[in-house]
Amino acid sequence: MLSASVLIGWSSFYSPIALDFGDESQRKGKRPVGLALAPPLNYWGEKYSPYREHQRQSAKYWALLLESYYTRIPRNALTACCQDEPMPPSRTPVTRWGDHRVEQRGSDAVSSMLVTGAGIDPGWRLELRLHDADASRIDHTASPFLGIAAFHGARTASGVRFGDAVTPATLTGVRDATTDLVDHFGFTPITVKAPLTSPARYGERPRSVYFSRGVDSLSTLIHYRDRLDALIGLDWIGSPYGTPQQDEIWAATTTAAAEIGLPLYRVTTNARELLDPIETWNHSHSVVLAALGVLLAGILSEVWISTAQREDLTPDDSAVRPGLLAGWSTEAVTIVRASAASGRNAKARMVAADSFASRWLKVCWEVAGDGNCGACFKCLTTMSNFAAVGELAAVQTRFRAPLTPAAVAALELTGVPYHSLLNIIELVDDLPVGALREAWASVFSRYWPDRELPAATRLRQTSR
Ligand SMILES: [Zn+2]
Repeated sequence: MLSASVLIGWSSFYSPIALDFGDESQRKGKRPVGLALAPPLNYWGEKYSPYREHQRQSAKYWALLLESYYTRIPRNALTACCQDEPMPPSRTPVTRWGDHRVEQRGSDAVSSMLVTGAGIDPGWRLELRLHDADASRIDHTASPFLGIAAFHGARTASGVRFGDAVTPATLTGVRDATTDLVDHFGFTPITVKAPLTSPARYGERPRSVYFSRGVDSLSTLIHYRDRLDALIGLDWIGSPYGTPQQDEIWAATTTAAAEIGLPLYRVTTNARELLDPIETWNHSHSVVLAALGVLLAGILSEVWISTAQREDLTPDDSAVRPGLLAGWSTEAVTIVRASAASGRNAKARMVAADSFASRWLKVCWEVAGDGNCGACFKCLTTMSNFAAVGELAAVQTRFRAPLTPAAVAALELTGVPYHSLLNIIELVDDLPVGALREAWASVFSRYWPDRELPAATRLRQTSR
């Protein structure tokens, strides 16, 4: 008996997710009978998955998304996907964190900890670095590391032995955030313990926002300009992200910050060496941004991180969940979830109306400098966000290729995180009837064979 399935994407574990059309006896028309998830290899390359609970959650999420928008898959079709997997062996690896140091290295202030555990090179240290600053200005406790330690432990189902002192609010917050990761990311519950120390006292300090020059951070900055006094920029040094191309992007970010007249604090870290093997950056970035934010305790009182999705399309496992971000805060620095508007189309309207924002827009990592390639998924969605509000002309020169329906229709979405794919829904909802909207709808139809997307239905109706 032949069965059929169509690959529609990848879970956050890089495990394939397919629409299952069943065998010939089950096949009735075009409607799939369920979702299929292949079990991924785990962190150690073994075939069992200690993350099956998360996988089920991820499957549930996909089912809800698809049910709502495309295919009305019965949710109970999912129960078969992971239940037969064996439990993980009793081995519980432990990751040890210790030997915290705060040092002046040349012109940079560096806080680091030794991390020891499965899959981690002997002697490896996690570094959090504030460039061109005196070491007296950064947090002198191990507080900035505890969130990353808990994230790593809960993700790999390993115990965490954290040997250096953190402040009371850090410990409480990280415990709350870890519960949030268990509830919404499906991570494994772990016990988070650390020695305590008293928090340092700081006076008034500026509020800041992470500044990547994307639609989200630019709209936050210009909308809340009166409340923000500083910018933080995440840059990269060393392999593989610290490239000459990245240097050019950073140089443009520095010029933009000078133009708007705000201090720009340059932070870097090697945290992705630890986290990339176990989790996507899409999920891990907020704990890293928060760690680098609370590092700047002597300089900043608040660090804002901008959201990406329209509120009603925000995935349950968004890395900028409010509870999660609040949990990464310390007594000295509050991590704030910021959004100037719900959705990228509305934010595009704000960026288009502001000459600073529209002149410095940078969404693309495919080209060096301060421009955008105009051809990648990120560029084409962003240009379409502007087109959806009739403002593409305001940013057209920022892109090196024009927005055309043909370029959209030719997009290959393999490897695009499903969080980013949600932005397409917003586009099909808001683009005016025409070739561009049909091109995005055609992208849907290639990846989701049964188009019962409400916006696509409207598209068909209005096209008649
Ligand atoms: Zn691009």
